[in-house]
Parts: sequence; C-alpha cells; structure tokens
Amino acid sequence: MLIGCPKEIKPQEFRVGVTPAAAMEAIAHGHKVLVQTGAGIGAGFEDAEYAAVGAEIADTAEEVFARADMIVKVKEPQAVERKMLREGQLLFTYLHLAPDPDQTKDLLASGATCIAYETVTDRNGGLPLLAPMSEVAGKLAPQVGAWTLQKANGGRGVLMGGVPGVGPAEVVVIGGGVVGTHAARVAAGMGAQVTVLDRSLPRLRYLDDAFGSVFRTRYASAGNTAELVLRADMVIGAVLIPGAAAPKLVRREQLSQMKTGAAIVDVAIDQGGCFETSRATTHEDPIYEVDGIMHYCVANMPGAVARTSTIALGNATLPFLLALADKGWRAACLADPHLRAGLNVHAGKLTYGAVGEALGLDA
Ligand code: NAD
Repeated sequence: MLIGCPKEIKPQEFRVGVTPAAAMEAIAHGHKVLVQTGAGIGAGFEDAEYAAVGAEIADTAEEVFARADMIVKVKEPQAVERKMLREGQLLFTYLHLAPDPDQTKDLLASGATCIAYETVTDRNGGLPLLAPMSEVAGKLAPQVGAWTLQKANGGRGVLMGGVPGVGPAEVVVIGGGVVGTHAARVAAGMGAQVTVLDRSLPRLRYLDDAFGSVFRTRYASAGNTAELVLRADMVIGAVLIPGAAAPKLVRREQLSQMKTGAAIVDVAIDQGGCFETSRATTHEDPIYEVDGIMHYCVANMPGAVARTSTIALGNATLPFLLALADKGWRAACLADPHLRAGLNVHAGKLTYGAVGEALGLDA
C-alpha cells in the first residue's frame, strides 16, 4: 500500500501524521511511504530523516493525495484537502465530526473511507488514540500554571515547591482521569501540595492506591470543590463527561473569594471548560485575567510540545496504521472491533451512530 503523509495546514498545527520511525516500520512491512516536503519540520523531523528510512518526498500535497492509497494526518482534513480525497481512498486521522456538518458532508461526498482516531477504542473502554494527548496536556498543565503564577504574568508570585522555610503552592486538580493524574504527578514532583477531586469512587480508590503518598484525593462534591478552590494557588480543570460539554464547576462569583493572582488552567476548555469564566485562548496569547484570577485556556495544549506530541501520537497510531496497511481497512476492521469503532464514514455513508445523532443524519 502507498501511505501518504501531507503537511498539516491547520493554523498553529506543528505535528505530523507519520514519524520517520513509523515510516521505517511501514516500509519494513513492504509498504511505500510518500511524505510531503517539510511535513515533519514543525516536529523537528527533516525530509532527509524520512528519505534515510526509504520514504519518498513529494513536492506538494496534491501529489500525496493523488497517489496515496491511505492518507495519514493529525488534524481533520481542511476544506481544500477534502476536495482532494477520492472514492476508495482511506483516511486515518482525528476527525471530530459531531460538531462539524461541513466536514461530514464533504467526507460523505468524497466516497473515501474515513477512520477517526478519537473513536478507536481499547479493551478497557478507553480511547487509546486520545490518551497520549491527554497525557501530554496533563503533564504540561502544572508547567504552564507555574509560569502563569509568576508575577510578571499577572500571577500571585508563588513558587510551586516553595523553599526551605516557605511552604509550597497549593494545587487542586478537578477530575482525576488521564489529564488529572498526569497533572497531579507533575505538580507534586515540582514540590506543590496537591489534591485531586473526582466524582468517581472507583477512580478515587485507584488514585489513592497508586499515588496516596504523592497527592491527596477528595470526593468532588460542590462543597469540597468550593472549599479547596478558594484556598488554592492553582486550579487545574480536567473533567470529562464523554459526549457532553464540560460541567461548570466554578462560578464567576467564586473568583472574588479566591486568592488574588491564583492561576486557573482549564484543560477541559476543548469541551467548553469547567470554569464559568473560561474562554478558549491560543499559544500566542494564552492567559487573561478575570476578577484578579489568571486564566490559561489553550484548547490545543499539545501543540506547544509538537515533537513530544507527534512521537506520542505516532506510538499509539502505529499498530493500527500497520494493520490497515497490511490487511486493508475491511479485513483490519473485521479482525479488530476496536479499530472498527473508529470507522466514521465509508463510501458516502455515515457509519458512526453518535455522529449521526449529533448531526441528524442516518448512520
Ligand atoms: P478522562 O475521562 O480520563 O477523565 C475525566 C475525569 O473527570 C474522570 O475521572 C471523571 O470521573 C471525572 N469527572 C467527571 N465529572 C466530574 C465532576 N463533576 N467533578 C469531578 N470529576 C469529574 O478524560 P481526560 O482524558 O483526562 O480529559 C480531560 C479533559 O481534558 C477533556 O475535556 C479532554 O477533552 C481535555 N483535553 C484537553 C486538551 C487541551 O489541549 N486543552 C488536551 C487533551 C485533553
């Protein structure tokens, strides 16, 4: 199979769908890899690294789309890319179709077979191609939060770990899933005093078993949440209710009772955010102030560390990419129900129920 990897064109997207390491493995499996020139630059991969493992370099995206049997990307195809997809071609990337009727219409019209990273499942009921980005965003959250806490950035001027004779920052993480656990581990590693709130008792039990000596856990009742938020130097929002907008767990009127200059890092902003005062920001202008509280609400946090994110995503997508290339999409999806769960569009038909429900289309 000819696997094609175009350069991402969505603004501020520096990741790439195929790493040189993935290209090398695909080539070892007997496939050909065609990479658009410069596709890996944002993640620190030169054309020469792809060429060294046997990949071919294409001058344009048009050439990649015209020749490849399977297109592997990171972000959903943009309008100009959707026009280049063709009947029978396989697309493997993040799609997020439910809130995007225009993209859905174009993918249906293309006749291509489209497998979405975000709906591929694993045997534990998790989402293995979303998890790496949650791991990255979680580990990044205390890092950007610590920066937000610095005086020059409008913050409270508190050092995460304190120093001898001066206590550490108090960090509260709301939601103890993938993002929350990684955030709590890093914040604790920086020396902060960390408490994780969650509404799931099984999750709290797991966190207490695994990390009881590293950070504390509390049940996320409204009362506990308010009490901890009001005395925190940093609050990290990391909740997820699958398929729904994030619940607003901290109201605007609570901000004026928080410590002036405290930092909010709302990682759940891509689902609308869990603070009433959250609005999405960008890496160029990441923080803003409301009622004395500094908010960091970047919706694509992993983009800040494009190289780590690309390699982490590539590690997770590679087994699926190889299965699709080795067996063809039909046999690969028949053999693996978790990969089949990723199938969103095939030959002009929507094949994912939740997207159909969201858009009022038959699936
Ligand atoms: P997850 O499903 O692993 O964890 C979510 C946790 O939230 C669960 O443990 C759940 O029990 C808990 N929860 C749900 N409702 C709660 C409530 N009311 N109070 C307290 N806890 C509650 O999800 P995740 O992978 O950790 O993702 C968390 C959020 O981060 C999601 O919104 C995800 O989209 C987002 N995210 C954002 C970025 C970014 O760049 N901004 C990157 C990756 C993930």
